[in-house]
Amino acid sequence: MPPHTFQAVARSANDAIVPAHLLQTLQPNSRLFFIKLTVLFRRDGATTRHILEIAAPCQHVSELNGLVWADIIRFLNQVDSPREALSEVIFRVTICAGQMMADQSNAGRRVLPLEVLLVFTWPTTELGPPTMVMVDVEERVTNCRICLEDFEVGSKAGKLPCSHLFHVECINQWVAYHRSCPICRLELG
Ligand SMILES: [Zn+2]
Ligand SMILES: [Zn+2]
Repeated sequence: MPPHTFQAVARSANDAIVPAHLLQTLQPNSRLFFIKLTVLFRRDGATTRHILEIAAPCQHVSELNGLVWADIIRFLNQVDSPREALSEVIFRVTICAGQMMADQSNAGRRVLPLEVLLVFTWPTTELGPPTMVMVDVEERVTNCRICLEDFEVGSKAGKLPCSHLFHVECINQWVAYHRSCPICRLELG
């Protein structure tokens, strides 16, 4: 999988709308963590959003139990979330839940809504102007240093700001994993 950046935030969500059926099943004197986990994938300018809402009755953070984590694990696997998300979500939820429990202003609240946002961003995998311009190959000057095939005279090649030439498909595959020129390592933004 190409390199991506990853952000995770968990916070209390006072304005969360908790489904009524969850409130009806809440035992007297028990508390409920209502967890809304949103996973965003940002890739090539498109955003995909996945949401999981779960409820976890407990008196203490340590009671956030295996069932909750199992639901979260299943969800993250279903949406093909990168692996590091799992431990990060568990960590963030535990920390945030602990803070909400400790907060005196939450003392009388039976439902503690908590929001988790995970954002994965992949760099764009296609180079365009001004990073890469298309040029005509006019003579058999060199080969593509990624696949080592000669350029065909009269074909198009992709030219980077450092003037190095590559097949367009070759360089686009390369930049999905590396953000620099394969020959001179010029950074490609
Ligand atoms: Zn090539
Ligand atoms: Zn170069």
